[in-house]
Amino acid sequence: MEDAVTEEIICITCPVGCTLEVTHAGETVINVDGNTCSRGLTYVEEELSDPRRMVATTVRVRGGIHPLVPVYTAAPFPKPKIFALLKRIREIEIEAPVALHQVVLEDALGTGIQIIASRPLPRAAETP
Ligand code: SF4
Repeated sequence: MEDAVTEEIICITCPVGCTLEVTHAGETVINVDGNTCSRGLTYVEEELSDPRRMVATTVRVRGGIHPLVPVYTAAPFPKPKIFALLKRIREIEIEAPVALHQVVLEDALGTGIQIIASRPLPRAAETP
């Protein structure tokens, strides 16, 4: 078993943002103080074993009224793969028009998580 360490982790499950004092040995939680509710403990367990974050970025669009459309992950994405995800998304270029919640990328990096447009983007008017 790894040595126990104590560190502060901010719970981002809700807007309260409790600062948790966490003692753990690797992924094994030994003690948690400072959580206002039980979801703080769940957050710590997930943060130590499989940390995930929502990711928001943009995707290039061809023929739209703007060159980029904002996108987001449909679910929290594994933190160690976020850099690779951003690299993959930079390779994508889609055709306007873009619909609200259009799936821009299915099964991102084999995680089963979709990348979705967070706003519609109409096609630019064609010049005669
Ligand atoms: S411990 Fe509970 S109250 Fe505190 S930030 Fe996490 S979810 Fe919110």
